[in-house]
Amino acid sequence: MEIRCSCCGKTYPVETRAWRCSQCEGLFELKTVSQLKHLRIDRKNFSVWRYRSMLPSLKEQHIVSLGEGWTPLVTLHIGGRAIHGKLEYLSPTGSFKDRGTTVMISLLKKFGIEAVVEDSSGNAAASLAAYCARAQMRAMIFAPAHASPAKLAQIRMLGARLSLIVGPREFAARAAEEAAQKNYYASHVYNPFWLEGVKTYVYKMWEQFDRRAPDAIIAPAGHGSLIRAAYKAYAELLAARLVKKIPRLFAVQAETVSPLYRGWVERADERGELQRANQAYSLSGSLKVRTRSTIAEGIAVWQPPHWHSILSIIRSTKGAVVTVSEEETVQAHRQMARQGIYIEPTSATAIAGFKKLSSDINPRALVVLPLTGSGLKSSPAS
Ligand SMILES: [Zn+2]
Repeated sequence: MEIRCSCCGKTYPVETRAWRCSQCEGLFELKTVSQLKHLRIDRKNFSVWRYRSMLPSLKEQHIVSLGEGWTPLVTLHIGGRAIHGKLEYLSPTGSFKDRGTTVMISLLKKFGIEAVVEDSSGNAAASLAAYCARAQMRAMIFAPAHASPAKLAQIRMLGARLSLIVGPREFAARAAEEAAQKNYYASHVYNPFWLEGVKTYVYKMWEQFDRRAPDAIIAPAGHGSLIRAAYKAYAELLAARLVKKIPRLFAVQAETVSPLYRGWVERADERGELQRANQAYSLSGSLKVRTRSTIAEGIAVWQPPHWHSILSIIRSTKGAVVTVSEEETVQAHRQMARQGIYIEPTSATAIAGFKKLSSDINPRALVVLPLTGSGLKSSPAS
C-alpha cells in the first residue's frame, strides 16, 4: 500500500504528513498492491470493520470505531416508483462521513498522530470530532460561521477546538490548509484513507442486494466522495467478478452552487479545464449572498478539487449531473418527512434529482439513493 500523486505519479509512504503532492500539488490516491480476489466478511462484526479484509491493514488495538456502517435500506415511493433509500443518516454522528472517519483516524492512530486539522461545512467535522474524542486525539476544526448551529454545537460538545470562519466554505478550507503546515491535515476531501472507508457503503449494499449491483445510484455531490467511492468499490468488485456491472452514477447539485453541472454540460473533463466563472465570489458587496446560497449546505462547494475524476466517472458509467432548485429541494424534503424519513435538506436533493432523472431510468431498474445526513442537526428547509 502506498500513496501516489494522481497527476505526476510520485509515490509517498502511507505515513506521509503531506496532503497533496509536494512536486506538482496533485491529488493523492491510495494504491494497494494486492488485487481483490474475494470479499471476505467478518460476520460477527456489524461495523465498517466487517469488511476489514478490504480496508488498509490494521491491528485490533488501533481500530477506532463507534459501530458505524450497519445502515438499512428502505423503500421510498417517489412519483409512482419504488426505489431504495440507504439510511446513512443513522450513523453514530448522523452522517455517512463516519465510514471514512473511522478508517482515517484508525490509521492516524497507528501512525502516532496526536493532533489533526480539518475544515467542513459541519458533518465531516462533527464526525472527526467524535472519532478524535474516541481516540484521545486533539481536533482543530475550521467551519463556516453560517454552518447549522446544531452541527457546531455537536463539534464543540465532542471536544474539538472550533474556529468559525466568516465567508464562503472555501475560506474555512484555506484556514485549515494554513494550520496544516504544523499539524496533520485530516481532510475528508484530500485524505485517501477516508475514501477507502466510504467504499464500505457499497460492500454493505452488495450484501443487502444479495451480491447484485444496483442499476443506478443517485447522490448529492459537493466534493463527490459518494460517487468516487462507489466507482472505486464497484470497479474492484467487477475486476474480481463479484458483480456483473458498475451502476450508472448520477450526481445532484443545487442550482445555485453547481460547478460540476456546469463542467458536465461544457464537457470540462474532456477539455481538461473547469471554467472558473462559476467559482468566483466577491468579498465586496455579494459576500452575504454567497455565504449561504443554498439550503443544501453539505454540497455548497464552489471548487471541488476532484472535479475531473468525478465527471469522467459519471460519463463512463452513462450517468449524468443534474441540478435542483431550492424549491424542489424543499418539496422533496417535505415529501420524505411524510414517509417517516427525517433527513437534512442536502440529502433531499437526491430525491429531487431522481424526479428529474426518472424518465431516463428504466422503470424496473434497481435504484439507490444514499440519504446522507440527519434532519436532527440541520437547519429547517422552510
Ligand atoms: Zn505530483
